[in-house]
Amino acid sequence: MASNKFKRMLNRELSHLSETSRSGNQVSEYISQTFLEQQAVVELPRVAPEETPQPMSQISGLRELPHSASLSAATVPRFGVQTDQEEQLAKELEDTNKWGLDVFKVAELSKNQPLTAIMFSIFQERDLLKTFRIPADTLVTYLLMLEGHYQADVAYHNSLHAADVAQSTHVLLATPALEGVFTDMEILAAIFASAIHDVDHPGVSNQFLINTNSELALMYNDTSVLENHHLAVGFKLLQTKHCDIFQNLSAKQRLSLRRMVIDLVLATDMSKHMNLLADLKTMVETKKVASLGVLLLDNYSDRIQVLQNLVHCADLSNPTKPLPLYRQWTERVMAEFFQQGDRERELGLDISPMCDKHTASVEKSQVGFIDYIAHPLWETWADLVHPDAQDLLDTLEDNREWYQSKIPRSPPAPNSPQRAGLDRFQFGLTLEEAEEEEEEEEEDQVAADGEAPEGPGTELMPSEASPTPQTSQLDNQRTRGKPFVD
Ligand SMILES: [Zn+2]
Repeated sequence: MASNKFKRMLNRELSHLSETSRSGNQVSEYISQTFLEQQAVVELPRVAPEETPQPMSQISGLRELPHSASLSAATVPRFGVQTDQEEQLAKELEDTNKWGLDVFKVAELSKNQPLTAIMFSIFQERDLLKTFRIPADTLVTYLLMLEGHYQADVAYHNSLHAADVAQSTHVLLATPALEGVFTDMEILAAIFASAIHDVDHPGVSNQFLINTNSELALMYNDTSVLENHHLAVGFKLLQTKHCDIFQNLSAKQRLSLRRMVIDLVLATDMSKHMNLLADLKTMVETKKVASLGVLLLDNYSDRIQVLQNLVHCADLSNPTKPLPLYRQWTERVMAEFFQQGDRERELGLDISPMCDKHTASVEKSQVGFIDYIAHPLWETWADLVHPDAQDLLDTLEDNREWYQSKIPRSPPAPNSPQRAGLDRFQFGLTLEEAEEEEEEEEEDQVAADGEAPEGPGTELMPSEASPTPQTSQLDNQRTRGKPFVD
């Protein structure tokens, strides 16, 4: 299977990266634990004494929201939100159809209700209220309810991120290569899925929830725990009074919409990344193009696959945005990771990769994330919709260079002066460099003999060196090292 091949290739790249330095190892661990499905570990889970169990029949996280005067069709504000800065908000929302809309600004101008303002703007822009006979007041009531169920004290996975992903999905759907390809229902599904895709996110990863025997992990049997929860909350909220935005759809339409939204949100589980990318690559290779250069997608599986990748791209679009926006996202995501790391430290758990504020390298993590995850994905997307995404790919590459240039140069370690050479983090090592590195690795291995592993998960890294080092391109099938996940 193509996806297994990709996983093996990525594993090889990551094992190489992990050997370059300690922070390289951490980045590599983060990527493999987040974007590759984990294999079963043969170890019994610890049994934590829990309080009285909650009934399983309930979806957690639902709450009543304080509602100001209830809305009626006549009192719906112009952008769905009460604000005394409507003109400035109108100005910002003129960028609704553009890559690089300033979501942070929209949040400021909408009393921190960016999801409601942007979704309302998108629905109007696309005329979805008319097409699906969605009453404006119902839409706004639902959106405020949904936005209220994003946790405001979570640094990254809050309603700002949801607004960003929904707006990015909206822009990607409008790409010329997809013109006329998707039905209104599919467009509605993709935008709605984006809006709900992280609702009630607690700011910790699936693995953390599993490791701490959380109620959610129990509820969903450790399988795409958060994604299942986001879906359940997103759909449950439709049942709240005056919130059923799909009330005028037929039963059949509702079922079909629900099927698609479930398929889309479950595909935002980052551990599905490699499978999605592998299938997308296969599709690009066998791409069928109808007249005028638009894609030909003639079955559900192909159509949902493109939409899954589209929403996944939107979810991973931070590094393709103008640098000032990207940097704010990075700050937020690192803040969330570090909070999780702090909790893990307090609980005496291993600290997840990239979550230890004392050792994580923010800049390296972004370069690694771009090199191994974001760039391969966006490059493939750009191939699919060629040449529509070229600008976006250029921004991604510029942003990568910016973070690369910001990697602090650490003083050389006493026993290995060349360790500080940061360019070894990049792809495309020459044969000589690779050889040199292999030798160093071997020396280090000897030096490190008898020592405890440096950090959590270090033991996962294969240390055997290949007798025939080659270049380190992802698309170059190398034979060194053993895959440590596959
Ligand atoms: Zn997300």
